[in-house]
Amino acid sequence: MIEDTAIGLAVRFRTSKFGQEIEKTVSRGRQNFQQGIDIAAKAVNRAYQAAKDVLDEEREYNQKRERDGSLKEADEERLHELRKEREQLKQEIGNLKAGIAAIKLQSETLISTVLSSDELSANTGIIASRACPECGGTMRIRQSGRDYRTGEHRFWWECISNLNGYRCRTLKVDLKSETLEVARSENPDLDGDQGTRHAAWTRPVVVQQTHARVRSLIGELDDDMMCPVHVLPMRLAERARPGGHLLDSYQYVCSSMQVGQPNCGYTVLLETFPQVASLLRRRTFKGIIDAA
Ligand SMILES: [Zn+2]
Ligand SMILES: [Zn+2]
Repeated sequence: MIEDTAIGLAVRFRTSKFGQEIEKTVSRGRQNFQQGIDIAAKAVNRAYQAAKDVLDEEREYNQKRERDGSLKEADEERLHELRKEREQLKQEIGNLKAGIAAIKLQSETLISTVLSSDELSANTGIIASRACPECGGTMRIRQSGRDYRTGEHRFWWECISNLNGYRCRTLKVDLKSETLEVARSENPDLDGDQGTRHAAWTRPVVVQQTHARVRSLIGELDDDMMCPVHVLPMRLAERARPGGHLLDSYQYVCSSMQVGQPNCGYTVLLETFPQVASLLRRRTFKGIIDAA
């Protein structure tokens, strides 16, 4: 099962532009895993930069249209090209992120675990490594707000592609009716009994420390979180009406936002401990429980 996941990811990765180059580096030896990840991470940054250039050019044409009332045919064509370019960059970033996940799966000690709402929540919004059954694109997990009756979140897989202008597939994750296994490295914020972890997360001194750590990351770009509209990394920000607590005050917003420009509506709320632990682990290499 674990091997299948790793192989599946590796196969998809090889179809990407940088996949083969990185694959070569990695196959030279175990110590080169990190090098492979670094190369892929640099390629992700380049793709994000290219998407930023696409947005800047697009904005110029849009300003021109506002100024002149319409655009020349050649300009309209260029705008169309830019949209296509952005779609390609999105796929590329998806492939690269899948590649990074594949390399990590090969280089780390893995455990097999049953998919739980904590596992899903920890991966919310992150460009994950599941391939879309419709278009082969990268999918990621989305999380609903907390249901006020059950206190639970719902989850679904969402394809990041826009096929012919439509948002591609979503797949419901039904934790009650199916048991799914996932492979991942050991993680003190996800391993073991849920009650024990919850008790550790919610100790007042831990909440206080965690909250301060999260606050210190405000404004930072997180390249694992991508706005699918603009294909730009998202940044951690305070919500418009922060509740003042760790889980009701923060969200990810699109980094396309500029003063005087209409805001991008795509946001991801930070509202569970597994999400917070995952954010801290990705940005600072320590989650909540192992930092306490
Ligand atoms: Zn799709
Ligand atoms: Zn956006």
